Amino acid sequence: MIARWLVRLRQGREQRSIERRAIAEGLWCETLERLPFLAHRSEGDLLRLRRMASLFLDRKEFSGAGGFVVDDATALSVAVQASLPVLELGIDQYDGFVGIVMHADAVVAEREVVDEDGVVHRYDEVLAGEAMEGGPVMLSWADVQGDPGDDGPPTAYNVVIHEFAHVLDMRDGQPDGVPLLPGNQERQAWLAVLMPAYDRFCERVVCGYDSVLDPYGAESPDEFFAVASEAFFVTPRELNEEQPALYRLLASYYRQDPAKP
Ligand SMILES: [Zn+2]
Repeated sequence: MIARWLVRLRQGREQRSIERRAIAEGLWCETLERLPFLAHRSEGDLLRLRRMASLFLDRKEFSGAGGFVVDDATALSVAVQASLPVLELGIDQYDGFVGIVMHADAVVAEREVVDEDGVVHRYDEVLAGEAMEGGPVMLSWADVQGDPGDDGPPTAYNVVIHEFAHVLDMRDGQPDGVPLLPGNQERQAWLAVLMPAYDRFCERVVCGYDSVLDPYGAESPDEFFAVASEAFFVTPRELNEEQPALYRLLASYYRQDPAKP
């Protein structure tokens, strides 16, 4: 039970945030035009998304790396896409971090793995984005804007949703493809749907079949959850057709049904 005065206090604080970070009409329309997957959303959804994007901008700190300048359009584009997964869950889901570091382009990270013989292997990994426990979230602006699925089959690609799905996954500790759920029973029920879907998807990738899901999702269950979340918001109907049980799992978690006509 939450006291009424506390609810009013919170609502008042949120309203002040929204007013402080009010989004100009022109910039809002331009941002939506560049995110065509939002076109079929209802007026009500878009209104709430706009309010949540203001809250996001008020609570998060953007910084540019290597001289990259984060202008209003860049910050708003990230804020809108990051707000979409938590539209019904609430912006508090992102309270565990504040910083968002933007790069102009993908970042090359030096990685190191030790194999079972104790031999150290070093390699470079090209990152379009990265979410770390406790933050910050790193994003490449070139990848935020890009859509490699344009020329081929409709593979969903959205680096912002991908990284923020990792943020949600990490709310209960290490990323493992299971976001924060009420208890162990819910966790087992989640895995009972996620893992068969993951196995089916890996088979598809191995056989070279097309999928609405980015093949990168075959890396691990946590990447699968992030990639499936991209498809859920960007190409929901295709995901619902290809993996209906997975679609329903995500619809119940995100409390949204974007495939609905
Ligand atoms: Zn990932």
